[in-house]
Amino acid sequence: MLFPYNKIRPFQAEMMSAIENALKERKFLLIHAPTGLGKTAGALAPAIEYALANKKTIFFLTSRHTQQNVVFETVKKINETQGTDLQVTGIIGKRQMCAQPNVEQLSSNDFTEYCKALITDKACTFYENSKKKVVKEFIEPQVRNKKPDELIRICKSHYLCPYEISIQAAKSALIIISDYYYIFNKHIRNAALGKMKKELKDSIIIIDEAHNLPQRLRKLLSRQLTNKMLSFARKEAQKYGQEKIMPALDKLTEELNKISEKLNKEEERIIKKREIELKDAEDIADELEEAAKIVLVDKKRTVLNTIANFLKNWKEDEGYSRILKKETDDTIILKHNCIDPALLTKEVFDEAHAVIAMSGTLQPLDMYADVLGFPKDTVKKEYPSPFPDKNKLVIIFPRTTTKFSKRDEKQYDNIAKVTAAMANAIPGKTAIFFPSYHLRDSVLKYFEEYYENSIYLEQSKTTKEEKEKLLEKFKKTKKAALLGAATGSFGEGIDMPGVLKGVIIVGLPLQKPDLETQQKIQYYDDKFGKGWDYGYVLPAMTTSFQNAGRCIRTEKDKGVLIFVDERFSWPNYFKTFPKDWNIKITGNPIGLIDEFFQEG
Ligand code: SF4
Repeated sequence: MLFPYNKIRPFQAEMMSAIENALKERKFLLIHAPTGLGKTAGALAPAIEYALANKKTIFFLTSRHTQQNVVFETVKKINETQGTDLQVTGIIGKRQMCAQPNVEQLSSNDFTEYCKALITDKACTFYENSKKKVVKEFIEPQVRNKKPDELIRICKSHYLCPYEISIQAAKSALIIISDYYYIFNKHIRNAALGKMKKELKDSIIIIDEAHNLPQRLRKLLSRQLTNKMLSFARKEAQKYGQEKIMPALDKLTEELNKISEKLNKEEERIIKKREIELKDAEDIADELEEAAKIVLVDKKRTVLNTIANFLKNWKEDEGYSRILKKETDDTIILKHNCIDPALLTKEVFDEAHAVIAMSGTLQPLDMYADVLGFPKDTVKKEYPSPFPDKNKLVIIFPRTTTKFSKRDEKQYDNIAKVTAAMANAIPGKTAIFFPSYHLRDSVLKYFEEYYENSIYLEQSKTTKEEKEKLLEKFKKTKKAALLGAATGSFGEGIDMPGVLKGVIIVGLPLQKPDLETQQKIQYYDDKFGKGWDYGYVLPAMTTSFQNAGRCIRTEKDKGVLIFVDERFSWPNYFKTFPKDWNIKITGNPIGLIDEFFQEG
């Protein structure tokens, strides 16, 4: 097998043979494989072998652009150690790759229209240059197996469109790395695969960090319309001489006002499709799109495409929720949200040659199989952590809670006191994750009193550079606490090997029990009889395990994972913890922490 390393890690061989067998038997696979098992090489080696023998292409899907690096490095290593010449291409968002200036200001809808218009009018020099045969022959060897950032730099220096060139490179690539939406968004898939001359039926789809897939797919299909968008659209229509769309905008405004008449501030209610008269939604959407083209000639953004998109999707019923909310006195939002990600996976799963979904937090596998709509005969594999058990101490502290009904100043003070005592006892850096920034800040004022070392705060809106700067400072501090939100930018995807000695997870990052959550619970209750688990509890536990996963990144790391909330010890939540964790439930964790670190 084309395996790039001398040593196979514990459980990696089992994972590879599971993939080999599943591919041979044409079965799909779901894999829970904790950090350190070597998932990327473990999945690529058997998949490449099979793809070469059966003339297939591998689509390696990642949820973040930075995750592409490890795939590139693995393929490079295979080529170096095995003497192969495997070709790999990475594609990121078209807007991110675009060589035109200032496109980052555009919404994705507007960017699509903008790029389309430039191509139709033959007005994009980068694109026109990229089509020339002689240019293709010249650039291809230069961008071969180059990561997207490098490919973009090379293409820009030659006045070429990086996206077009990477699509060209993908034609002959064995492995194509991209975001989920290149495969799961039908329009993007059809356009991209068509240009690459690839077909789903000849593709092996590997979905990395697949625990992110349900939420990402829901987002792809969710839309919203607000009264502010409509009033902005009216102004645009007036300014650009598009009065013909005014009656449609007036009608939409009237309908929105009518259905929200009795709502009070911050109140929300479920809406039935028939409550709104939107008979010609698709025709209106077409008109808005035509008007949007005129607006986009002059400026880079228009709200008209967003409204058109909302209208085109409005007919969708099954697996969707419709919720109307009066956010403030003068803001009305009509949300048409997707509940069921299986609506998007169906076509892909029906057509693809093989699908392998993997993650370090894909438990319970049955839930992911159900929620994502995997076929009944999907093979499910669960592997334990390959790191020594003695390097990890897992504690549940059951004497506080962040339950909404029990939140008050006394509770915040108590949480601050116990988490500070734990962080003080941990001989090094600790990350502390809260269900929200609001709760973090409520606890912070007390925590500052009790914690004896430096405190770093993750901010909700932060640039990549600011984030890196904060992390660098934190890493350089001998002993410190980093306080963030469970779903914030440090809760997942930050790799800090050897940095953290402890992670404290305060409370459960449960979704607000609003109408949307209630609809999700109801939907999964009707579909699988598991609404509470699938719609509420388990997604929160996955987030907590992702947070906990920040601590031990290599076999040499030693650290403590502490779950601070009584609910973690309740059977419904406790049963979701990984089976191979030796968990101590205690109200006196300090002695255990001291003892654990004294053991050396
Ligand atoms: S063709 Fe390429 S360079 Fe031109 S606008 Fe589109 S993405 Fe940008």
